[in-house]
Amino acid sequence: MLELFPDTAAVDDAGELTLGGLRATELAAGHGTPLVVYCEQTLRAQARAYREAAPEALVVYGTKAFPNVALLRLFGEEGLGADVSTLGELVFARAAGIEPERLVVHGNNKSDEELAAARGALVVLDAPDELERAHAAGIERMLVRVTLGIEADTHEAIRTGHHGSKFGLTEAQARELIAREPGLLGLHMHIGSLLRDAAAARLAVSRLADFASAIDGWSPRVLDLGGGLAIRSTLEERAPSIADYVAALLEAAPPLERLILEPGRSLVGRAGVTLYSVGAVKETGAGTTWVAIDGGMSDNPRPQLYGVRQTALVAGRAEAAADGLYGVAGKHCESGDVLIDAVELPSPRRGDVLVVPATGGYTLAMGSNYNGVPRPAAVLVRDGAARVIRRRETIDDLLRLEP
Ligand code: PLP
Repeated sequence: MLELFPDTAAVDDAGELTLGGLRATELAAGHGTPLVVYCEQTLRAQARAYREAAPEALVVYGTKAFPNVALLRLFGEEGLGADVSTLGELVFARAAGIEPERLVVHGNNKSDEELAAARGALVVLDAPDELERAHAAGIERMLVRVTLGIEADTHEAIRTGHHGSKFGLTEAQARELIAREPGLLGLHMHIGSLLRDAAAARLAVSRLADFASAIDGWSPRVLDLGGGLAIRSTLEERAPSIADYVAALLEAAPPLERLILEPGRSLVGRAGVTLYSVGAVKETGAGTTWVAIDGGMSDNPRPQLYGVRQTALVAGRAEAAADGLYGVAGKHCESGDVLIDAVELPSPRRGDVLVVPATGGYTLAMGSNYNGVPRPAAVLVRDGAARVIRRRETIDDLLRLEP
């Protein structure tokens, strides 16, 4: 089970889960729950794995996985840039000291304000009228996002390279843009997220290369191959290693001045776990025993959005034998607010800290205030110390927005 957890996860002599040298139960007591705990060692190791797999490429963090200044700064120290898709993400990356030269700016509906803020960065054109708007905003470095009709083997909500996607331009539209502006630097593709096998991505890269080589009088200097590598959030799932996935992409890519990779989930997903406090435990008439936690779809909506499966363990009895199957339910007023349908646990009871691994990406980033619930805090742990990198919201924070 610990293989789903950050690199520093261990079980101490008392049978307690530790992260970065700190007991999860003590982190929960000191910072409250729900709490997202990120392991610095794992974040740096994932970044280095990408740099080693593609030493010549520019690796940019898919900021949407968790827009956070401390994480962006840490990745900046590891030589990464950032892929941003809104003004907010762009401002976070700039606040973390990521220079425009290492910024890739996305968005299928960029505002004038977003284009103006993107000056100096590499902008990925995603609409037929964006070339003129980008020129008017003083953008000089541009790629075109092409939709190649690739059906990635992932949930339809996170598939982006198929014909009909709201992202990117058709091959004809992309050719037309290139004819109008031969100074365009290159092409971009991203076929989806949670990709568990490199085959579709490799096919997309070779299609992109074929598309480029069929254009008369123009060759890309830059190819941006997007992100998408999956992580495992349960033991039954598989995911390729960063080294294998990137090697497959590079094999299919033509030799070019610059390649760009945009990983998000695979950089931060396993590095983060969520701690919850167990509240009510009750058996239903149908036989399910629900373990209710103090969070749910407001801090991790991915089970509802695209069927993500999670698992859990009890932090204070990390190695205790399970005594049954439990459902883990959130505290929100929706029957669908179920984090885990069934997981084996050792008699969970009120006050236990339940730890859910592989929740570092697209959790807090997608958090909401549903039911007036303030969003959780995040801490970064390393060598026995924890630093708050996202303050816990308070109800006063929410009330302040009410005129
Ligand atoms: N690049 C683009 C254009 C994306 O839309 C996304 C996410 O959907 C990513 C990169 C990051 O993807 P992932 O987190 O799956 O690596």
